[in-house]
Amino acid sequence: MPRPIQATIHTAALRHNLARMRAAAPDARVWGVVKANAYGHGIERAWEGLRGADGFALLDLNEAERVRALGWRGPILLLEGVFEARDLELCSRLNLWHAVHCDEQIEMLAMHKTHQPHRVFLKLNSGMNRLGFRPQRYRAAWTRLAALPQVEEISLVTHFSDADAPAGIAAQLAVFLEATRDLPGERSLANSAAVLR
Ligand SMILES: *Cc1c(COP(=O)(O)O)cnc(C)c1O
Repeated sequence: MPRPIQATIHTAALRHNLARMRAAAPDARVWGVVKANAYGHGIERAWEGLRGADGFALLDLNEAERVRALGWRGPILLLEGVFEARDLELCSRLNLWHAVHCDEQIEMLAMHKTHQPHRVFLKLNSGMNRLGFRPQRYRAAWTRLAALPQVEEISLVTHFSDADAPAGIAAQLAVFLEATRDLPGERSLANSAAVLR
């Protein structure tokens, strides 16, 4: 038997949190990051609270389809990118942006036939040690991606592991700045804790 725990999330609270983020980073654009069907609350409900965001960043392709079905025409980013080659068909069809964090994803993209080049977010492992290219391999990955006709634009992204802990973001930020120095493209860095910090 599951324990009888219930969490009530008010969409007004999501809207409030989004406004807090905008106030903390007025010059930035803000992703609504939604995982695991909004932790079970339903992506459609989370979308209602966060539709004032500049885009939605998701993990699950099925949730991306559901957000498009709601009529969302703005950016959708797949935070972990594609898992298999055919996922790229869906990216082309639904105009999904996707993260590229490993060589296999570059190879899939190189084989992908599309009329519409993709916007990708090249992920740096700056110290979270979950996904992403290591700093010494980042530039080579960028160069490979930039040469692909399937790629229209490359943005640069990393994820902070300790933004709300004593360690903070300084070390990872330094790694990011060094690895991305002189590279063109938009930067997407901060999770909520880092923005508030
Ligand atoms: C989950 C996630 C975020 C958002 O993290 P919050 O702590 O909820 O703000 C940002 N970036 C990536 C890559 C994530 O996986």
